[in-house]
Formats: sequence, structure tokens, C-alpha cells
Amino acid sequence: TPDGSDGLNPSPDENDGKLRPTRLDEMVGQRDVIERLKIAIGAAMRRSEPLGHVLFDGPPGLGKTTFATVIPAEMGTTIQMANGAGLSAPKDLLPYLTNVSSHSVLFIDEIHRVPKAVEEYLYTAMEDYRIDIVLGEGVNARTLNFELQPFTLIGATTRAGMLSAPLRDRFQIREHLGWYSENQLTDLVLRNAKKLSIEVEQAAAAEIARRSRSTPRLANNRLHWVRDYAQVRAKGIVTIGVARDALDMIGIDRLGLDKQDRNYLETLIRVFAGGPSGLEAIAHTMNVSSDTLEDEVEPFLLRSELIVRTRRGRIATTKAFEHLKMQPPLNS
Ligand code: ATP
Repeated sequence: TPDGSDGLNPSPDENDGKLRPTRLDEMVGQRDVIERLKIAIGAAMRRSEPLGHVLFDGPPGLGKTTFATVIPAEMGTTIQMANGAGLSAPKDLLPYLTNVSSHSVLFIDEIHRVPKAVEEYLYTAMEDYRIDIVLGEGVNARTLNFELQPFTLIGATTRAGMLSAPLRDRFQIREHLGWYSENQLTDLVLRNAKKLSIEVEQAAAAEIARRSRSTPRLANNRLHWVRDYAQVRAKGIVTIGVARDALDMIGIDRLGLDKQDRNYLETLIRVFAGGPSGLEAIAHTMNVSSDTLEDEVEPFLLRSELIVRTRRGRIATTKAFEHLKMQPPLNS
């Protein structure tokens, strides 16, 4: 699927509304990030200043949007949500900037997709709460200055490396969201099972966590599916056997890989003899965009040491061959 999910939930968080934390203390994991944010938020509120601009980066589904919505809730302020892909010209940005109320949050997801011409408006907006608009051309050109309310920009990106230095430097708080441990995701599954009023045994929660690619969004998606399965096939009680059968049925394997992840590995091994192969070539063969692979598929395969990235391209590791029960080439 385009979102790299298992295809059960067309939009990743479609039925996730109930499960998204609304306060920092309801979030699992990311303790150090949460502690730093609490200090920054507390200090800003004491001084009656807006919180400094915040940038979150990390792979999809690890909580960037959740943090962006929880922060204004902690501060008792409002949020406007925008997406970098939708801000193709300065005029797309202006309504958001002119609508910011004092100390409120403007959230821009996928901020690396904001084009340069729009990005420049963000500089003065972030730094001086001001935008300068040039009207007309040549000798008739006039600059209009707009004062903005002091606000907090929260940016999220899966590609921190793609942000320009001037933009990156204007964020006072920069946080990288890392993968979640099995224990943290087990905790998440147990808590969310309660919210969904289903009985999930401890060992079953751990199994769902193990097969969720260290990602809360996937743990939630998998939990929803296991719940459906248990209600129809197992009187609603999720034992470890039920969790395994349910996840096997939708092609989530022991390592938590879904069909697309395995398709990537099989393509790399079968078509490119295990690599090295360029990302574009793999993407073309699989008929998916290279962005999807780079953002949603590769990060976990890299972390799991199923592939490595070299200057000459991607290479499948011995572990990948073993996982797919395929023979490594003799000369490797
Ligand atoms: P994307 O960049 O793809 O939008 P994201 O990093 O913004 O991904 P979120 O949308 O914040 O990810 O997280 C996906 C879902 O996972 C959330 O709706 C929430 O229910 C859950 N989630 C994420 N992080 C946490 C957390 N730390 N604690 C509890 N639930 C979480």
C-alpha cells in the first residue's frame, strides 16, 4: 500500500482517534524527549512567552504528529495543521500565518517538502513574527510588512537531512524520535486493549509488540486487526496463539515484516543477487516510489540488519537470506 502499512487501514490512523494520547503523561516511551519538552513548556508558560519552535524528525509512525498535538494541549492553546506538500506557493502559507493566535501552534508535517520560495517566508515569521510581502515588480514594487502574533512553529520530517541549514537553525528545540522497545510497545498494546475493551493476555501483547516494527502506529494497527480476528474466531479473548494466527493471516511475519518489506528483500535478493543495488532500481522493479521505500521500508530493514547501505548501493545481509530461507550466493 502507498502508506507502507499492511493494507488493512487505508489511512494509517483512520480508526486510531481513540488511541492517540492527548497528554504527555499518556505517551509511552520517549522519556528523555518528554522530560526536555516539559521543561521547555514549563519555562515558556512561566515567562508568558510562546514555546520556542520545535522540530521533530524520525521515521513515520513514531509519534511526531502526536507530540505536535499534545504540546498545545499541555499549554492550553490551539493548533493549526498544515502539510509541507500543500504549501507550494507563499499564498498557501499566508492564511495559516495570519490566523495564528498569540502563543498558538502552527504544525507543518513533512516540512522538508516546503519549497525554497515558501521557506523564506518562514524565516522572518519564525524569527521576528513578521512577514514581508512584495507586491508589484520593478520600480513599482512595494513591500508590505505584516505583524504576526507570537506563535510556535512545530515542524515534522522523516528527512532531517533534507532541511536547509537556515531553516533547521531557526528551531530552538530539535528532537529525534527513535524506535520503541518491545517493552514499551507491549505496554502500549496493553493500555490500548483496555481502551478498546478487549482482553489481551500479556504474552499476546508482547507478540503483537514484537511484530510491530518498533512503531506505535503499527502496534495500534495490528491490535485492531487482532481484535477483529479474536471477536470472530476466538470469543474475543486474545491469547498468544490467537495473536500469532491473526498476524500470520495478514502476512505479518515473526520479525514484524509485512508483504511490502519482504517484497523489497526478495527483489533485492532475486533480481539483484543480493546487491549492491541502487534504490531507484529496486523501486522501479517493485513499482513503488523510492520515497516510500526510503521513508517507510528501509529504516526498519536497516535497523534490523537485514540490509546495509553502501556507497555502491543496498546489500542484503546474511540475516536477510536466512530470514527468507534463500541461499546466499557462494562468492559472498
Ligand atoms: P507520520 O510522520 O507518518 O505522520 P508520526 O511520527 O507523526 O507519523 P503519529 O501519527 O504521531 O506518528 O503516531 C501514529 C499513532 O501511533 C498515533 O496516532 C498514536 O496513537 C500512536 N503513538 C505514537 N507515538 C506514541 C506514543 N509515544 N505513545 C502512545 N501512542 C503513540
